[in-house]
Amino acid sequence: MFTLTKEYAQHLDSENPMLEYRKRFLSPTFGDVYLEGNSLGLLSIDAEQSMANFMEQWKSWGIGGWLNADPDWFTLGERLGAMMAPLVGAEPGEVVATGTTTINLHALVSTFYRPVASRRKILATSLDFPSDVYALKSQIALRGGDADRDLMLVESNDGRCIDEDDVVRAMTSDVALCVLPSVLYRSGQLLDIERLAAIGRARGIPVGFDCAHSVGAIPHRFDDWNVDFAFWCTYKYLNAGPGSIGALYINRQHFDRVPAMSGWWGYDKDRQFDMSHEWKGAGGAGAWQISTVDVLSGSSLLGSLQLFDDIGIQTIREQSLKLTDYLITLLQSLGLMESPYRYRLGTPTEHRRRGGHVAIEHDNGESISRALRNRGIVCDFRPPDVIRMAPVALYISFHDVWRAVQELKAIIDAGEHLDQHEDRGLVT
Ligand SMILES: *Cc1c(COP(=O)(O)O)cnc(C)c1O
Repeated sequence: MFTLTKEYAQHLDSENPMLEYRKRFLSPTFGDVYLEGNSLGLLSIDAEQSMANFMEQWKSWGIGGWLNADPDWFTLGERLGAMMAPLVGAEPGEVVATGTTTINLHALVSTFYRPVASRRKILATSLDFPSDVYALKSQIALRGGDADRDLMLVESNDGRCIDEDDVVRAMTSDVALCVLPSVLYRSGQLLDIERLAAIGRARGIPVGFDCAHSVGAIPHRFDDWNVDFAFWCTYKYLNAGPGSIGALYINRQHFDRVPAMSGWWGYDKDRQFDMSHEWKGAGGAGAWQISTVDVLSGSSLLGSLQLFDDIGIQTIREQSLKLTDYLITLLQSLGLMESPYRYRLGTPTEHRRRGGHVAIEHDNGESISRALRNRGIVCDFRPPDVIRMAPVALYISFHDVWRAVQELKAIIDAGEHLDQHEDRGLVT
């Protein structure tokens, strides 16, 4: 079939306006096709230039850069928040760049988790990213609770996805807080954020979302959906670099709350240097900052976000869906889901339930992901059997996707999936 050929992939790319933006990214010399943008996004020229600019400013200003650098460092967290607000459907003052993902989870949960005897459970899911579960358990322990009793993890029926109906059923009157992923890190399932936030709201349960796998890949409408709070990282789809600054969203309806973990960076900016011991929060999400803003990675994010501003998240999402559709179609049409290939699709096929990556399962997934890397396809493996491929709209072409699928086939044809190998690396 024509659609399965390399020529067809090239034809799709010839009509692919997003390839213009690919030129604004620096390709790693490691590998040919980079499908790890959901773990660590690539460096853009914009981010590189923005960091270089920061270095120059630091060189010439020293401490004077806090107020005099262009742009100034003192309000960088707020500025970045305003730039990210359109990505999540928020007003500028509801988002701030600060901390890191798990730290922000702690800062937000400690504010929104108000356990009382009859209502002390936290609701999350059994497919959550481990760090979230560790953090939630420790938050419960911090309040004198028992994590085995008070943390309720909604089970999955198939080990891949969470049924929203099960979450809704678990939103009972003893639930004090609900923290959910927007997109599941392994299967790539996108939850119905609007519905879950609405039902939580109706039942008096604050609902917050971990959006590490969705911000920069899909549009959100947090304000319209009445989401209470959210947090995310900027090193995945936002391409700000390894360990870069995190971000959080607080619905303005909660601006009157006092952050449970305060620090001087959340102080009213006009008076911060009065050095008073009486804490006075900045209005808005800025109050949830704790420590001095990380200007180095913030500078990288500043450059990177420029691209999102230029393109718009809706366009990025449309292209991402075309690429994941194409990947899924190739897997199905080339017979890779059948013997002798036996790949399985772990990601929902409906657009409204799919994030930015595709989970391809195989009993020999670990050997296959290794063989893929040897063949120049950079993607990762998540136990027990998931190979994740993220065809990021900003820098992945249809031809890249076509290449990756050819290798999935060739590896089985060559029997490389049966190769024995040493232990898995520390980071996969
Ligand atoms: C990547 C990821 C994190 C990362 O947490 P850090 O604190 O930034 O290390 C957290 N949650 C989810 C769902 C993730 O995918």
